[in-house]
Amino acid sequence: TSKNEASVVIDVNLTPAKDPEEVVATLRKNFHTNKTRSLKFRKKQLKNLMRFFQDNVDDLCDALYKDLRKPRTECITNEIEFTLNEIKNLLWNLDEYANPEYPEKGFVNMLDGVEIRKEPYGVVLVIGSWNYPLNIALNPMAGAIAAGNCVILKPSENAPATAELLAKLLPNYLSIDCYQVFCGGIPETTELLKHKFDYIFYTGSTSVGRIIHKASNKYLTPVTLELGGKSPVYIDETADMAIAARRILWGKCINAGQTCVAPDYILCTKKVEEQFLYHAEQALKEFFGGSVKPSPDFGRIVNDNHFNRLAKLLKDVKIAIGGHTDPTERFICPTIVIDVLPGEPLMQEEIFGPILPIVSVKSVKDAIDFINEGEKPLALYIFTKNSKDKELILNNTQSGGVAINDVILQISVEGLPFGGIGSSGMGSYHGKQTFDTFVHRRSILTKNFRTIPDKMHSLKYPPYTDAKLKI
Ligand code: NAD
Repeated sequence: TSKNEASVVIDVNLTPAKDPEEVVATLRKNFHTNKTRSLKFRKKQLKNLMRFFQDNVDDLCDALYKDLRKPRTECITNEIEFTLNEIKNLLWNLDEYANPEYPEKGFVNMLDGVEIRKEPYGVVLVIGSWNYPLNIALNPMAGAIAAGNCVILKPSENAPATAELLAKLLPNYLSIDCYQVFCGGIPETTELLKHKFDYIFYTGSTSVGRIIHKASNKYLTPVTLELGGKSPVYIDETADMAIAARRILWGKCINAGQTCVAPDYILCTKKVEEQFLYHAEQALKEFFGGSVKPSPDFGRIVNDNHFNRLAKLLKDVKIAIGGHTDPTERFICPTIVIDVLPGEPLMQEEIFGPILPIVSVKSVKDAIDFINEGEKPLALYIFTKNSKDKELILNNTQSGGVAINDVILQISVEGLPFGGIGSSGMGSYHGKQTFDTFVHRRSILTKNFRTIPDKMHSLKYPPYTDAKLKI
C-alpha cells in the first residue's frame, strides 16, 4: 500500500477513524477469501513487519522516549530486537510450525487418515499495554499473522506517541485488507469488544483482564490474558549477594520498574537484608553514578496518575535507600523500603514502579507460606545455592514462570512459554508457542468406502446384541 492510502485510514488523534462494526466485518469477509491462509502471503507480511522495525528505529525510539523516557538501549534491546527475534523465529520456522501433524494410529484406524491441521481462528483482536508498547503489541500480532489470521491491533492509549506511530506506519507495511490498527481509549475499546472476534489476546492489568474475559464470554471467544501481579524474590544467605543485588536492581530499574515480570518485593532474613542493602547501594552507584535523576539510563513514570499512586506508597514507610521523587518529571528514584508488613499498602497491589519493599521472614518455610497467601504471581525468583531449598520452594508454590538466581530473563528464552496462572493470566506465548496460540488444532479423520473395514465396524450398528458386546 502507498503512504497516502495509509494516512487516510488512520486518525492520529487516537480516535478510531472507522466504525468498528465495519472494520470487523471487512476483515472477516477478507479472511474468508483465504488470502491469509497462503504461507507465501504470511511470510511476506512477516518480512514487511521486520522491515517496519528496521526502517524506523529512530522514530520508534523517539516515540518511546516521549511516552516513557525509555533509554535508547532499552528501546533497542527490549522492544525492537526482542520483537524482531520473535518475528524471525516465526518466519524461519513457519513451514515446520504450520505442517499438519499425523499422530500415531491405533489398530482400528490402521486404514484411515488421521491428521491435525493448524488452522487460523479468523479475526483476532490484540489489545496492548503501555509499558512495552511495541513489543507487547507486535509480538502477538506477528504470531496471529504467522498463523494465518486477520488482525485488529488496539495499542494502549497510555503510550500515545507509540500508538500514533504504529497507526501511521504499519499500514505502509502490512496489507490493510487483513490487518488494521484501531486506536482509542476505554470507550473505544469497550465498543470494539461488543463485536465478535475469533480470538482475543489481551495484555494489561488483572482488573481489566476480568472485563475482557467477561466480554469474550458473549461469543465464547477464546482468550489469552497476559496479566500482572506481585512477583516475589526469595534470597537466602548462600546467594552471591553482589551478583544477586545487581541482577535484582537491574530488573527493578529497567523501564523504571514498569515491567510485568519485574521483581515486586523481597523475602529474606534480617541478616540477608543487611548484606543485600550494602550491595544494592553499590549496584545503583555502578549503574547510575552518584545521582540517578540526571542519568540518561533511567526512565520515567508513564503518567501523573501512576506517579501519584507510587509517591503515595512512599508515605510513612521506612526507606533504606533512595526515596527522592520529582512530580515535574514524574521521576521516582530507585527506592528500597524495609520492615514492610504484609498488610501495608506496598504489599496490596503490584507496585509497577522502582520501589522495592523487603519483608522479613525467618525461614524458607515462612517465605513459602507468605507466597502462598497471595495470588499466584506471574514470576517467582529464587536466589540460592541450596538446591534442596530451591526444590522445596518450587514444589510448594505456583507461578507463571520462575528464574533461579536471576530475574526477567526467563521470558527471553525462546523455548519457554511466557504466561501467567490464576490472576496473573491464562495462556502463553513466545517462540513456537506464539504460533500455537493463534491456531486451532483441527482433528481430521478420513475413511474410505472399502467394504472390509465397514464389516469390521459393523459391531457399532444396531441391532445391539449381547454377542456383539462380547467380542
Ligand atoms: P493499559 O492502561 O495500557 O491497559 C491495557 C489495555 O487495556 C489498553 O489497550 C487499554 O485501552 C485497555 N483497557 C483499559 N481499561 C479498559 C476497559 N475498562 N475496558 C476495555 N479495555 C480497557 O495498561 P495497564 O493495564 O496499566 O498495564 C499494566 C499491567 O499490565 C500491569 O499489571 C502489568 O503487570 C501488566 N502487563 C502484563 C504483561 C504480560 O505479558 N503478562 C506485560 C505487560 C504488562
